[in-house]
Amino acid sequence: MTDEFPFELSPMFEGERIRKDDVYIELAGPKSKGFELVRAAEMDEIEDGGFTLLGPDISGMVEGDRYPFAMIYRIAGEAVEPDLEAIVERRNHDFQNYISGLMHLNQRYDIWLRIGKDAVAKGLDSFEPIAKATMMLFKNELPFIEKMDALYITDPEEIKKRLPDVKAIYEARDARTRGLHDEDVDTFYGCTLCQSFAPTNVCVVTPDRVSLCGAINWFDGRAAAKVDPEGPQFAIEKGECLDEISGEYAGVNESAASLSQGEYSRIKLHSFFEYPHTSCGCFEVVGFYIPELDVIAWVDRDYAKPAPNGLTFANMAGQTGGGKQIVGFLGIGINYFRSPKFIAADGGWNRVGWMPKHLKDRVLDDIPGDIVDAIATEEDANDLDSLKAFLIEKNHPIVSKWEEKEAEKEKRAEFEKPAVPAAVVPGVMPAGVPAMPLPAGFVGSVGSGGGVRLILKNAKISIGRVIVKQDGDED
Ligand code: SF4
Repeated sequence: MTDEFPFELSPMFEGERIRKDDVYIELAGPKSKGFELVRAAEMDEIEDGGFTLLGPDISGMVEGDRYPFAMIYRIAGEAVEPDLEAIVERRNHDFQNYISGLMHLNQRYDIWLRIGKDAVAKGLDSFEPIAKATMMLFKNELPFIEKMDALYITDPEEIKKRLPDVKAIYEARDARTRGLHDEDVDTFYGCTLCQSFAPTNVCVVTPDRVSLCGAINWFDGRAAAKVDPEGPQFAIEKGECLDEISGEYAGVNESAASLSQGEYSRIKLHSFFEYPHTSCGCFEVVGFYIPELDVIAWVDRDYAKPAPNGLTFANMAGQTGGGKQIVGFLGIGINYFRSPKFIAADGGWNRVGWMPKHLKDRVLDDIPGDIVDAIATEEDANDLDSLKAFLIEKNHPIVSKWEEKEAEKEKRAEFEKPAVPAAVVPGVMPAGVPAMPLPAGFVGSVGSGGGVRLILKNAKISIGRVIVKQDGDED
C-alpha cells in the first residue's frame, strides 16, 4: 500500500495469525493489562499526525516477553462528535490487522496484540510507524476525521493509573441505552465489520441488545450510520414485530437473509435456543447450555479455568464463532446481561446456573434479587455434580422444572410399557394395529364370554376391528 513503513500494509493481512513460536513480543492480553480508547477533541487541541510514547519502545523490549499496552487516539473534525468515539475505536482492530506482522484481537480493555519475529527482523523496532500507519488508515477510511493524534503507553504504572477512568468512560457509554428499549424505536442498526473473518455474521444492535463485541451500542450504530450510511454500520428498519418475547422482527429477518448470503433467514434477538443471534468470535462472553442440568452458564475471556462442563472459554469460543447460529452456544457483550430482555425467550436469569465470580460481581446489580444467590460461581461449583448439589441447596427455579419433567417422564414411561403380545389372545387382537394406551395402574377385565376371566395390569391393548353381534347371529 505504501513504502514509508517497515512493513506491508493491506487488508489481505487481516486474517493473519501470529502463533506462539513466531511471537517477538506480546502486548496487553489476558495475562497483562491494556486498553484502546478514542476521544473526540477540538480542532485546535490536536497536532495532526502527532505521536507520543510513554514507556519503552519495541527496540527496548526483550524478545519473548509480554508488556502492558494502551493506545489513545484523539480525533477532531466538523462532523466529529462524542457519539462517534466507540465506532472509530472499533476500527482500530481492522486497521492494525492490515499491518503485516502485527496481530490485534478484541477491543476496549480486552485488547491483545502480538508482533511477529519476522516483522522485527524486517526493521519494525518502534511503535511510531504502527501509530502513523493506523492514523493514515483512519483518515483515509473515515473522512470525517480531519485531525488525529495518538498516545501509546507501555509504562505499566501509567496504564494502571489511567485504567479506572478509561473503564468509567466505557461504562458511561454503555449506560446511555438503559432507559431506551426495543419497542421505543423503529430502527435497529446492523454491523458487518467482522464478516472479514466470519462471512455470514450480522450483528444486530438494538437498545436492548448491545453488540456482542460490547463496543457498539444502539447510539453508536445510529451515529455511525448517520455519518457514513454506506459504511459497515447501517440502519435496519425493524418492521413488524413477529414475537415480542423472543425479539423477532420482519425487518431483521429480511436483513439476515440478504446479509448472510442466505445462510439463515430468521434471528430471534433474545433467544438462546431458537434462531439465536450469530456469534462472530469477538464476543466478550460465551453462553453454553448444560443439558444434564437444563441450565445455561456463561464464561468470559478473563476466566481461564475450565467451566463446570470441563471446557474453557477458548475451547468454547472456537465452537461458537464463525458467524453461524450455533444452538447451545451464544456469544454476547457483557452489557447484554443488563438488558431487561436478556434471553427472555428461554427464561432469562431464571435459566442461568453458573458464571465466574468476577463476572457475576460485575453485573450483580442487574441480577434479579430472587435468583442472585442461586446462581453458582467457581467458589460454589466446578463440575456438574457440585453444580447440581448447589442448585438443589439454593432451590434454583430450574429444580422445580426437573421435578415436573421427572414426573412427566415417569408418567410417559408407564404409558409406554410394551403391549401384551398378540399371540397371548390369538384371534382377538390382531398384530399391527394402532396401540391404545391405558391409564397407569389400570386393572380391568376383558370379557371372553366363555367363563374365562383375563386380568391385564399396565397393558396396552390393540384393537383392529370390533364386531358387535346379537346372540343367535350367523358368523
Ligand atoms: S462484533 Fe459485531 S458489532 Fe462488533 S465489530 Fe464485529 S460485527 Fe461489528
